[in-house]
Amino acid sequence: MKIVCVGAGPAGLYFAILSKLRDPAAEVTVLERNPRGVTYGWGVVFWDDMVHGLRGSDPETARMVLADANQWHDQEVHIGGERPAHMGGYGYSIGRTHLLNLLTARAEALGVDVRFDTEVDPAALPDADLLVAADGVNSRIRSRYTDEFKPTVESGRNYYIWLGTRKLFNVFTFAFERTPAGWVWLHGYRFNDEHSTCIFECTPETWKGLGLDTLDTDAGLAKIQDVFARELGGHELISQSGGTKTPWLNFADVTNQNWHHENMVLMGDAAHTTHFSIGSGTKLAVEDAIGLDQAMKAHSALPDALAAYQRDRSAAVAVRQGSARASSAWFENVAQHIDTDPVRFAYALRTRREQPAGLSWMLHRATQYKAGQVGRRLISTAKRRLKSA
Ligand SMILES: Cc1cc2nc3c(=O)[nH]c(=O)nc-3n(C[C@H](O)[C@H](O)[C@H](O)COP(=O)(O)OP(=O)(O)OC[C@H]3O[C@@H](n4cnc5c(N)ncnc54)[C@H](O)[C@@H]3O)c2cc1C
Repeated sequence: MKIVCVGAGPAGLYFAILSKLRDPAAEVTVLERNPRGVTYGWGVVFWDDMVHGLRGSDPETARMVLADANQWHDQEVHIGGERPAHMGGYGYSIGRTHLLNLLTARAEALGVDVRFDTEVDPAALPDADLLVAADGVNSRIRSRYTDEFKPTVESGRNYYIWLGTRKLFNVFTFAFERTPAGWVWLHGYRFNDEHSTCIFECTPETWKGLGLDTLDTDAGLAKIQDVFARELGGHELISQSGGTKTPWLNFADVTNQNWHHENMVLMGDAAHTTHFSIGSGTKLAVEDAIGLDQAMKAHSALPDALAAYQRDRSAAVAVRQGSARASSAWFENVAQHIDTDPVRFAYALRTRREQPAGLSWMLHRATQYKAGQVGRRLISTAKRRLKSA
């Protein structure tokens, strides 16, 4: 079998790994437009559920990732200079570049042909029995086949920027700072011995009020650095690991009515996104790869495997997307929730994913699956959570 994955992100690389493990004789290629070792973003967080998925499907990848991951304990909420509130918990983090290097090494060791500096033109797709569109949130393949996949892409209201810093946030940190133009906050966590991820977010009113719509990238970073001088302890914000300057963006919320068409299948962010505030996109990309691998083991005919993949994964993803929507809606209305008492605020922050906005969306989504098994499962999950919200 000839399999081509477009995109060497977690989805494309992990599916390539599992494909070789499932069928060592398969011809598996990954095509990536960026040079080797270059990607966007900084560190990503994950939890035991992703480790569990990796261990169950390829213990060697799990071992490699865990050996190099940073484990963090506790989450703190800082409001201005107030005493922090603690939310407990633990998780892992790893640099995105490093994670992709590990997955690439594992794929190549199994015989996958990973080709960098290779941009795929959706108008001239390579010949394959199965073509996996793992080309990310702005998938050009999805855009080319809009009538077939029927995607919906909605832009979030808030602005965010994904930066790095040498300040080591040993504890997962949410820090909120009040400016004359409104609140700005950061999600910060260390992911190796030298760097932390810093994602800053604010409403469009605050973004414009601070002049971030007109300042150039360096001046914008200097402004944010100034606002968060206390949190950053004098450390600089670093724009981009790949050399280009990171822009402020609005989060793109992606869903697709159909996840496959003929020999093509969407995977990872090309198929669905979940707001970064719930840190799930990498895990879902890995789980998609596992889901398609399992479907291909269970069904010898490709159309049956692709149908089973969409059925199972779309249900699991819709639950996460409901939580993600609730979380992003909560952050879009931070000013309504923020309270000078950090403990009360931390509690609201912690329970944000169970807010009715996301659960209602899940119910709405469930109706699109009509009375099928997936729809019934979604409806009962959403109703149960709405009851306790
Ligand atoms: C601010 C922010 C913070 C995040 N934090 C976390 C986190 O903490 N934890 C977590 O789990 N997730 C996080 N995510 C989400 C996570 O980064 C994504 O969900 C995940 O990378 C999706 O994997 P993917 O393989 O589908 O896509 P990607 O990782 O985006 O990979 C797609 C690849 O396809 C390549 N490509 C695109 N078009 C072409 C083409 N035409 N030809 C060849 N190659 C192409 C791209 O260069 C890219 O390398 C975060 C996202 C954001 C925006």
